[in-house]
Amino acid sequence: SEEIEEKAKNILKKVFGFSSFRNIHQRKAILAILKRDNDVYISFPTGAGKSLCYQLPALLYGGITIVVSPLIALIVDQVTALQQKGIRAVAINSKMTADEKRIVHEDLRQTIPTIKLLYITPEGASSDPIQRLLESLNKRNLLNYIVIDEAHCVTHWGHDFRPDYLRLRSLRKIAPQAFWIALTATAGNQAEDDIQKQLEMVKPRIFKTGTYRSNLYYDVQIKELIQGQTPEQHLIRFITRILFGKNDDVDLSEIKTFPGSGIIYCRTRDECEQMASVLAKLEMKALPYHAGLSNKVRDDVQDKWMRNELAAITATIAFGMGIDKPDVRFVIHWTCPSNMAAYYQESGRAGRDKKRSFCRIYHSKSDSGILKLLISRELGQIRNKSNISEKARDDQMKAITRGFEKMMGYIELPKCRHVAMAQFFSDNETKECKKNCDYCADPKKTSNLTDKFLTLSST
Ligand code: ADP
Ligand code: MG
Ligand code: ZN
Repeated sequence: SEEIEEKAKNILKKVFGFSSFRNIHQRKAILAILKRDNDVYISFPTGAGKSLCYQLPALLYGGITIVVSPLIALIVDQVTALQQKGIRAVAINSKMTADEKRIVHEDLRQTIPTIKLLYITPEGASSDPIQRLLESLNKRNLLNYIVIDEAHCVTHWGHDFRPDYLRLRSLRKIAPQAFWIALTATAGNQAEDDIQKQLEMVKPRIFKTGTYRSNLYYDVQIKELIQGQTPEQHLIRFITRILFGKNDDVDLSEIKTFPGSGIIYCRTRDECEQMASVLAKLEMKALPYHAGLSNKVRDDVQDKWMRNELAAITATIAFGMGIDKPDVRFVIHWTCPSNMAAYYQESGRAGRDKKRSFCRIYHSKSDSGILKLLISRELGQIRNKSNISEKARDDQMKAITRGFEKMMGYIELPKCRHVAMAQFFSDNETKECKKNCDYCADPKKTSNLTDKFLTLSST
């Protein structure tokens, strides 16, 4: 009703400090959630403002909203941001002390808890204390919404399947009255159907927008076809141009703080190390980030990067999920990803602030071979899995094969990169970008390069 929308707008301004909804999609999704008559499924691209879709409704009614989010680091960021706005949001996770958890539990056992949003991990959701807590909240009619963020983690059709997500539906029994909200930036049709099925969403209201992000410029470079310089030099020129404009004579060694920074994804730990040292030799500040480093070193590297004291972080794909840095000016894949869904997600970390940012893949003939090998190994492992049903095995293999084929198509077929990506997600809304990818900027040149690459490949 109008009265509720009035209230919502009030909270939007007073608590969140936004003068209006971001767009009609965000507004509609929020109003639907406020109605509380159905579950809601939301698929908007990264940076579209999905969080507000549940954070605002969480404040409008008495009672509590549970948010399931895949990573503790992600939860900490969100909770801190909400607390800074004066919102009573807290987390319960395995890294907290017993005392810290007790304080949260005590608040939630009160007749009228002060907490409005409780963030938990999917592992936490199936733990005894949290299940009992939810039961108690449910009995007292205090559960408003159960929010599943990064909902693609529940399906094999995504690229980041997490078994703990599958157990989330057990919360349905514990809290049958709560409305569920599932949010994701990356789901094609199959993934979407499966997410709704796995989370037992019955006739959810669905809000979807296209995958297109006009501030991101996408292109592909072929290492073997770069002339007059090494691919690494080519990379450094690219980064310099992004960060400093056409100005070629910046003295990189003098720079303490960069105007933004970026990610260079490498396939292995060794490649991250090598790339960082190559960049360092050429005076571009970069440090590696991968699972082989201690937590302390990793946190330190991440902090420096967040503060723009590094131009780039050279990382394996272990880095990035849940990192909310607005000014990631570039995401460069030094080796081609093996799955289109993963590429959309990883490259999508660029330009959350909606400013011009660049997403590039440096592909090569030699890497094509390695990729094929990796994929066939991955398929072999799934084929040999005995602890899952034949159907699940089939779906997983299909998802991997399709994701890979579309990724190769993205590299090898001369067409708008945004359209190629959109088609993977069955998004028909996205049209040729005209100027935000290498193909649209110069179709002839890009087609020629693609042709040359294909000849390289077949020799
Ligand atoms: P998503 O989860 O869809 O990737 P977020 O929820 O993290 O995106 O939001 C991205 C950015 O958009 C955040 O910085 C957020 O503060 C901002 N934002 C969200 N809604 C609005 C709005 N109505 N007006 C202005 N900024 C908004
Ligand atoms: Mg989000
Ligand atoms: Zn295009």
